Amino acid sequence: VRVTATPLLKDNNKNLGILLILEDITQIRKLENMRRDFVSNVTHELKTPLTSIRGFVDTLKAGAIKEEQVAARFIDIIDIESERLSSLINDILLLSEIESKEEQVVAPCNMDTVITDVIELLQPKIAHKNVVIVYSPKPDMDYYPANANRMKQLLINLLDNAVKYTEVGTITIQCEKRKNKLVLCVEDTGIGMEEEHLGRIFERFYRVDKGRARKTGGTGLGLSIVKHIVERYNGKIKVESKLNKGTKFTIELPY
Ligand code: ADP
Repeated sequence: VRVTATPLLKDNNKNLGILLILEDITQIRKLENMRRDFVSNVTHELKTPLTSIRGFVDTLKAGAIKEEQVAARFIDIIDIESERLSSLINDILLLSEIESKEEQVVAPCNMDTVITDVIELLQPKIAHKNVVIVYSPKPDMDYYPANANRMKQLLINLLDNAVKYTEVGTITIQCEKRKNKLVLCVEDTGIGMEEEHLGRIFERFYRVDKGRARKTGGTGLGLSIVKHIVERYNGKIKVESKLNKGTKFTIELPY
C-alpha cells in the first residue's frame, strides 16, 4: 500500500488536519516485476547466441580459419546462431506490437485461405518427416472479423510447434463456427508434454525441455504470442496433452 499524507490548511494557515491517501499498488508492483523479469530474460536469451557467435569468430581469427573443415563447421554454427538471434528479435518485436496496439480489422479474414496458406508454407518442414497434415474445410465457416496477418501468425506458431514436436504421425486442423464462436483446433500425435508443464507453456521463454527446444530452434515465445493474439480478440486458449501421445490446442474466438 502506498501512503501519501498532505496537510490541510485554512486560508489563515490554520491546520485543519491531514489528508491521508491509501493506494493499493499490488497490481502496479506486479507489472513492474513482470517487466523487470522480462527484460532480464530477454537479455539472457539474446546474450546466449551472441556469446556463441563471438566465441567462434574469435577462434576462427585465432587460426581455425586455416583448417577448411573446422572453419566450415564453425561458420555453420555462426549461421544457425545468427538466425536464432534474428528470430528472437522478430518475436520480441511482434509481442510488443501485439501488446501495445489496438487491432485494426480492415476486412473480414477468410480463415480457410489463411489455413491453406499456412499449410503450404510449412510443407518444406514436413518434407523429410513422416507427417501428414489433415484439414477438411467446413462449408459454413469462412470469414472471421480479424486481422488476417494475426490469424496467420497464430496458426504458423501452433502448426510450427506441431511439426517440430512430431516425427511420425498426423496433424489435424479443424476450424468451425459453433454458436457465436469460431473454434480452431490444432492437434498432433507427437511427443506431448507432462501435465505439470501445461499451466506454464504460455509464459514467455518457458520451455519444457531447454535442450530439446534449442535443437528445434524455438525462441520460447511462440505460444506467448499465440495467447496474446487470442486475448486481443477476447478469446480463450486451452491445451490438452499426453506424453508420447500428442497435444491438442483449442482456441475459441467470439464473433
Ligand atoms: P518454442 O519456441 O520453444 O517452441 P513455444 O512458446 O512455442 O516455444 O512453446 C513452449 C514450449 O511448449 C516448447 O518449448 C515445447 O516444449 C512445448 N510445446 C509447444 N507446442 C508443443 C507441441 N505441439 N507438442 C509438444 N510440446 C509442445
